[in-house]
Amino acid sequence: MSASPHLAWLEGRLLPACDAKLSFMDQGLHYGLGVFEGIRAYAVPGGRSIFRLDDHLDRMAAGGALLGMDIDRDALAGGIADVLRANELGDAYIRPIAWLGDGQGLKLDVNAMRTRHAVAALPLATHLTAAAQARGMWLQTSTYRRNHRDSIPPMKLCGAYVNSVLSKRAAMLAGFDGSLFCDGELVCEATAENLFIIKDGELIAADHPDALPGITRKTLITLTGATSRPVTRAELFDADEVFLCGTSAEVLPVTRIDDRIWPAGAITRELAATYADLVRGRDTTRLDWLTIIEDQRLKGVA
Ligand code: PMP
Repeated sequence: MSASPHLAWLEGRLLPACDAKLSFMDQGLHYGLGVFEGIRAYAVPGGRSIFRLDDHLDRMAAGGALLGMDIDRDALAGGIADVLRANELGDAYIRPIAWLGDGQGLKLDVNAMRTRHAVAALPLATHLTAAAQARGMWLQTSTYRRNHRDSIPPMKLCGAYVNSVLSKRAAMLAGFDGSLFCDGELVCEATAENLFIIKDGELIAADHPDALPGITRKTLITLTGATSRPVTRAELFDADEVFLCGTSAEVLPVTRIDDRIWPAGAITRELAATYADLVRGRDTTRLDWLTIIEDQRLKGVA
C-alpha cells in the first residue's frame, strides 16, 4: 500500500511530488531536454525486486550523453530505493528522470547547463487500459513516422515522445489502444513497445534502426533465441501470432492491427507466463537481472 501523499525524490530529498519546486525557466521543460526511464519493481518476500536496473540506468546515461548530460547513476539508484521504501511500494512503476536547465533563460546552448535528477514511483501495474489487457492490443498503423535516427536518435529522450503521443492520440481517437510505426514496407515499433512476430513456431524480433533498443526485447531474445531482423508489413500480416513487449506492457498479444484480427496465441501466452516468472523471481535462473531492495516494514506481499 502506498503512503499518501506520494513522495518523490528530488536530488537527495524526499518530498510530496506536488511540492517539488522547479523553475519553469528550465530549458528542459521548453525543449524536452531530458532523458527518462520506465522501470518495474515487483513485490518479493521482504521487499521488492527491480528488473534489470543496471541496463535501464545504462540506457539512461547513454541517452543523456547525447545532450552532454552528466547522469549521476548512483544518486538515481539511491533515489529509486528511497522512493520505493518511502511509499512502501511492492509492485511499482519507477520513473527516474534527468533534465537540463539553469532556470535562467531560454537559450539553446546547453553546454554549461546543470543536470537535474528526480525519481517518482507509482503503484501502477501498467500504462495499458483494462480492455487492452483483457483482449490483447489493438493497433492502428500510424500515419506518423517514428523519429528518424538522424533526426532524434532512438533513446528515451523526453522530447522524442511527442512523436509517440501524436500517433497514440490519433489511434485512440479512432478506437485503438495504440499505434504501430512503419517505415515504408518495414515495421518499426509501437508507441512504447517493441514488436515480435511468430511464424511456423519461429520467433522473430522486428529490428529497425529507429526503434528503441528495448530491454524487454533483449531479454526475450536471450530467453528464446528469437531471430532479430527487419520485418516487412507483408510478413507481419501473414504472421501466426504478433505480440508487443516492454517494461510496462511485459509480453502482450496483439489481436488487431487495422482491419486484421489475430487470436491471442498459445506461444505468446506461454512466453508471457515465462517472463512473469522471471521478473517476479519465481524462476531463479537469472537472479543476476534482479536488484532486491529489502524492506522490513513491507507487509502482506508474497
Ligand atoms: N519502444 C519505445 C518507444 C518505448 O518507449 C519502450 C518503453 N521503454 C519500448 C520500446 C520498450 O522498451 P523496454 O523493454 O526497455 O521497456
